[in-house]
Amino acid sequence: MSDWESVIGLEVHIQLATRSKIFSGASTEFGAEPNNQACLIDVALPGVLPVCNLEAVRMAVKFGIAIGAGINRKSIFERKNYFYPDLPKGYQISQYQIPIVVGGTLDTVVDGSVHTVGITRAHLEEDAGKSLHDEFPGATGIDLNRAGTPLLEIVSDPDIRSAQQAADYMRRLHRLVTYLGICDGNMQEGSLRCDANVSMRPRGQEELGTRTELKNINSFRFVEKGIITEIDRQIDVLESGGTVIQETRLYDPIRNITRPMRGKEDAQDYRYFPDPDLPPLVLSEEFIDSVRTDFPELPEQRKLRFMTQFNLSEADAAQLTQSRPVADYFESALDHADNPKGVANWINGELSSYLNKEGIDISDSRVDPDALGQIVANVDSGVISGHGGKILLSILWEKPKLSINEIIESENLRQDSDSGTIEALIDEVFAAEPEQVQRLKDGNQKLIGFFVGQVMKKSRGKADPKLVSDIIRKRIRS
Ligand code: ADP
Ligand code: MG
Repeated sequence: MSDWESVIGLEVHIQLATRSKIFSGASTEFGAEPNNQACLIDVALPGVLPVCNLEAVRMAVKFGIAIGAGINRKSIFERKNYFYPDLPKGYQISQYQIPIVVGGTLDTVVDGSVHTVGITRAHLEEDAGKSLHDEFPGATGIDLNRAGTPLLEIVSDPDIRSAQQAADYMRRLHRLVTYLGICDGNMQEGSLRCDANVSMRPRGQEELGTRTELKNINSFRFVEKGIITEIDRQIDVLESGGTVIQETRLYDPIRNITRPMRGKEDAQDYRYFPDPDLPPLVLSEEFIDSVRTDFPELPEQRKLRFMTQFNLSEADAAQLTQSRPVADYFESALDHADNPKGVANWINGELSSYLNKEGIDISDSRVDPDALGQIVANVDSGVISGHGGKILLSILWEKPKLSINEIIESENLRQDSDSGTIEALIDEVFAAEPEQVQRLKDGNQKLIGFFVGQVMKKSRGKADPKLVSDIIRKRIRS
């Protein structure tokens, strides 16, 4: 039994967040009726001419700068020829010999150790349409809305050494492109998908083994599980004296196996050639500089700013900047509550548990940052108790249209800080428990908690517990 080393290279496709397609003016919006967003250019009717979307180019350059890559001042669009029903043109416009972005790196961190992954290249291309196999019994439908959607394909060097590193790489790439604002990061809608190339070699061997490619993985969890499964399969093949065949495979997460999909094409099968309809993509220094100067804040910078500007711990700042939507939500909530630590706690605690329960992202939260900020502000100013804040959040979660003040009034959450009322409640409680009162007066401090609890109960949670305990302490001293 040898000691095997796994070698992994990822090809990640991100959908660029442009409003229109890469070579036409058709909308890229998700969810339209099938075939309502594919124009004549997207299906390449004879005589139409593609025109490159400058916004997509800007986004590719932004990515290149962020990973420290080189930007080719001149890159070429080529036709990648193949037949498939969802590809009416018979070719996909992509970049092959000269891509827009070359080189650069992305660091992964697994169990505290940093591993730098080289990026081979990133190139612009168009997406194909979609075959719908399940919607029409006995037939396959074709939806061309996605045809011509701009993609950036990011190809890593075969530098990744474990499934965990591969998943971390994908997470960090996801975080980077959403921070850059070049991809909405919506994995359910296919905005970020990955092909994983996997091979094995005896540890210490320089030469790479034969790889297989797992196609179209659209979750971080499946990239990890799929690669683990494929590594196990290849080791089994090799240790039983067989050889790994270069092929494209699919990961089946239900049965947790990978199975062959098709033999692997070689580049020559695609008959790449420069697209005669598109001139070389030439970038001026001014254009690249304009991208450089208008650069968004990246995760690490934002984390450090949160620590200095808001005086947050590194752990809090790291959690809040984990994803851009969370960081944005936090900063919007702060417009309403001058309490960074408090807002951080509410987001990482109470709000997260609602989001997790329903499995939704913060960008789909039913309670928006303005409302959360107002809840925190009401608790901080003593209008409602912390407990009241939780009730408020739970009601707002169900009925997001209600106003905060309405709920405070209708649910009677306004905190009673009127000491007269509290004194009266304490009188009642003391009268009911004369023996305990005596023990408290004799110095059994533990009973303070008991009496505060009793008073809170009588006030139905509306009394300010701090005020109750202050008054009780004063009473027993007198
Ligand atoms: P293709 O475009 O035909 O899939 P490439 O040579 O461009 O092939 O490589 C695609 C991906 O496969 C890259 O991420 C690369 O790092 C990775 N890769 C290439 N050879 C191997 C190998 N032997 N083992 C693992 N990954 C590999
Ligand atoms: Mg490939």
